Amino acid sequence: MTGSNQQGNLQDHSDLSHGVSLGFDTRAIHHAFDPAAFSRAVQPPVFLTSTYGFESVAANDAAASHGGRLYAREYNPTTEILEQRLANLEGAEAGLVVTTGMAAFGTLILSLLSQGDELVVHNTLYSNTVAMVEQGLPRFGIKVVPVDLSEPSNLDAAITDKTKLVYFETPVNPLSTILDIAAIAERAHGLNVKVAVDSTFASPALQRPIEHGADIVLHSLTKYINGHGDTLGGALLGDAETLHMLRETGLRYITGATLSPHSAFLILRGLKTLSLRMERHSASALAIARMLEAHPAVAWVSYPFLESRSIARKQMTQGSGMLAFGLHSGFEGARTMLDRLQLVTRAVSLGDTDSLIYHPASILRARQSIRKDAHLIEGVGEDLVRLSVGLEDVSDLIADLRQALQVL
Ligand code: PLP
Repeated sequence: MTGSNQQGNLQDHSDLSHGVSLGFDTRAIHHAFDPAAFSRAVQPPVFLTSTYGFESVAANDAAASHGGRLYAREYNPTTEILEQRLANLEGAEAGLVVTTGMAAFGTLILSLLSQGDELVVHNTLYSNTVAMVEQGLPRFGIKVVPVDLSEPSNLDAAITDKTKLVYFETPVNPLSTILDIAAIAERAHGLNVKVAVDSTFASPALQRPIEHGADIVLHSLTKYINGHGDTLGGALLGDAETLHMLRETGLRYITGATLSPHSAFLILRGLKTLSLRMERHSASALAIARMLEAHPAVAWVSYPFLESRSIARKQMTQGSGMLAFGLHSGFEGARTMLDRLQLVTRAVSLGDTDSLIYHPASILRARQSIRKDAHLIEGVGEDLVRLSVGLEDVSDLIADLRQALQVL
């Protein structure tokens, strides 16, 4: 069984490579799965079991002392393949997958930080991560210090002897701006603080933060890694000691947010085509960003590879499929444009085969009727439109966007 024999998998893996290190796509398809251990099934089986029997009480003692492969909250063979494969692709020692990206963030923070500790974050983050740092963490006595990490030297004033972690996204949701992983990690490490990067917008096919000095990588697997908009998931990747702690503490008794093995199977399937998809997402998004930039109705466009932006090109191989833009006609113009679209779907989420578009200020207006304190995230204006460019023919996407912009 693959789960009981990590060494065996690595052995099989190097046999496949004839001693040469395997490429990203080969590992995305094969790493950590040994068909010989599963009746030569070509695809990993889905283990739908909540618990594991043991041959004897002594065998139970041994299993418990090997990290508790007793119960499916913390261990499942299908899920373990996904964890090992993601860790390998990110260049991490170990991985943990959970139910959602938000569960990954909760697992990370509530395992590593305690009352009185401080967390430094970039001042723009995914909106529900903002809700967690503004409303959730202060309730547990964790102080959150937002700073502008586009200037890494701002860390010097923000970090204190209570700071346990620096956390940011790059590219940043929803602005598609880029933060310099190597420069931030160097500053933080100089002050003895670890760095965690949410790399959801890029995926390991385009950016591997650990290669640039980050300690921990977080992904919403719901997005590009699964890529097909049909399940939720989250992942944490990093050193073996920290990941052991995140599983033992964060998953086992703080969140209990175990990914279903069926979702793990779907995400393993999506992962096989990740880099092919990211190439297409990136090429189409760049073409759309250029079209929008030249359009008279468009006031501004943000896309990492639009100009020769040196930081994006230093740490990403391509620009991914996410872009943000604003119209001269602002808030009302954005609403009119979204309503005129016929092919691009009006929806939150991102990274799917289908192109998805959303206008944060409109969603906010709807939310404010039930949550009075809801507000736009730092740096996000009322005009901002976020587009997740899918895998449709780019000529069709451009035609749809053009006809929607025509009246504005
Ligand atoms: N991180 C980023 C950058 C995201 O965009 C999202 C969701 O949109 C999350 C984390 C949360 O992931 P999930 O929706 O899987 O909880």
